[in-house]
Amino acid sequence: MHQNNYKDALTDSIFRIISDAADALNMECYVIGGFVRDFLLERGTPKDIDIVAVGSGIALAKKVAKALPHQPKVQVFKNFGTAMIKSDDLEIEFVGARKESYQENSRKPTVENGSLEDDQKRRDFTINTLAFGLNRENFGRLLDPFAGVKDLKNKCIRTPLDPTITYSDDPLRMLRAIRFATQLDFTIHPDSLQAIDEQKNRIEIISNERIVDELHKILLTPKPSKGFLLLEKTGLLHFILPELTALKGVEEIEGQLHKDNFYHSLEVVDNICPNTDNLWLRWAALLHDIGKAPTKKFSKKVGWTFHAHEFVGAKMVFQLFKRLRMPLNDKMKYVQKLVFMSSRPIVLSQDTVTDSAVRRLVFDAGDYVEDLITLCEADITTKNPNRFKRYHQNFKLVREKIIEVEEKDSIRNFQPPITGEEIMETFGLSPCREIGILKEYIKEAILEGDIPNEYESAKKIMFEKATELGLQARN
Ligand code: ATP
Ligand code: MG
Repeated sequence: MHQNNYKDALTDSIFRIISDAADALNMECYVIGGFVRDFLLERGTPKDIDIVAVGSGIALAKKVAKALPHQPKVQVFKNFGTAMIKSDDLEIEFVGARKESYQENSRKPTVENGSLEDDQKRRDFTINTLAFGLNRENFGRLLDPFAGVKDLKNKCIRTPLDPTITYSDDPLRMLRAIRFATQLDFTIHPDSLQAIDEQKNRIEIISNERIVDELHKILLTPKPSKGFLLLEKTGLLHFILPELTALKGVEEIEGQLHKDNFYHSLEVVDNICPNTDNLWLRWAALLHDIGKAPTKKFSKKVGWTFHAHEFVGAKMVFQLFKRLRMPLNDKMKYVQKLVFMSSRPIVLSQDTVTDSAVRRLVFDAGDYVEDLITLCEADITTKNPNRFKRYHQNFKLVREKIIEVEEKDSIRNFQPPITGEEIMETFGLSPCREIGILKEYIKEAILEGDIPNEYESAKKIMFEKATELGLQARN
């Protein structure tokens, strides 16, 4: 962690410009929050900078914009008393220091002007209260009234005030606590955890958009299971994603156990992270088994079954996205399709991998086939090392065969080599059953590998089948 020389954090010329502007306005001013935290943690250069002014943040922003060579536009949010300017890749947000008090049923506080310390108090965690002075006489000085640096060192998420008040004032902070713990691999202070447990049902006043935002951020960390375990432990998950908590538990009937599909799902998400940054593929990993809770059955004959859980799961994905106001667009369809097909390649990994099975998989999965295999590889959570190795080797083979099959037959986004119109024309048919039969026959022959995916071969077997159906060509 960086020590002492905090001027190193402020070498970007923007800080001198802000400093001069603040001095000219005779206004105290600080850089605060994520920028300071991430500098001390050496987490790389941030994309946004938060500036607190003891006075009008908007006036300061305007002065800074004038002093910048490219004279950027100042975006003013009057209702919030904040202003934003963009400079290079940076977003700089200016806010006047404020004191907040909250009412019972809202996230919207009553706001008055306040001192720097008032402003630090209203922040969520001690590690986010840290500020560097920007005025000439205190440029680079750290202001840390809540021992945030100590918490950075101890990797601890702690609220500056009584956690019950902090979380009750703004219940979104409960999710932020868990999100930061996951992103930074920190521990949440036990008092905070207890307060979250007490306040968990207040999450209901938070909008779905904000909740989803935090879930996305948790899913985009290298080890999302940490966040989901905390969500589960604090009881928040039940309010947010009851489909997942329904997967919890192991049941035993007549000595037959099924696995705990909640922990399994988290393991699959963690497994997939090194192999993809695609947020939606990570969502698919998280949700791939949600259909197992409503479809679970036990019978003496076959033990535990989850009949058609992929189908049910895909339908649940739609409901879940709708409830949380996530986009009901191609992203949702992508997650649905991966959930729906999530068991398909497993037989391939357990059996001999035939060309025709691979061709059928590519036909059904289309452009999602590689992502589907990535999901299935992550789904291998067996603790038996021999099986683990064998399944992975088979998927490697599947990947090679996909390339081979694609080179030969381009099955992806399959277009029938002979169209319905051509069939009608050839045999003088108007729309009828036989056309479908012929098309299906050709498609099957290609997928089976009996003929290559090309016109002449297709035409040849079309005539054979047509004869069998008693059809005659027109000339
Ligand atoms: P990152 O942008 O990397 O997620 P950050 O700390 O910059 O982290 P932001 O959401 O950008 O987080 O918020 C900026 C600062 O505003 C935080 O550091 C924190 O001090 C304060 N803050 C943000 N949201 C809240 C909140 N709900 N309650 C209290 N303070 C908050
Ligand atoms: Mg930020």
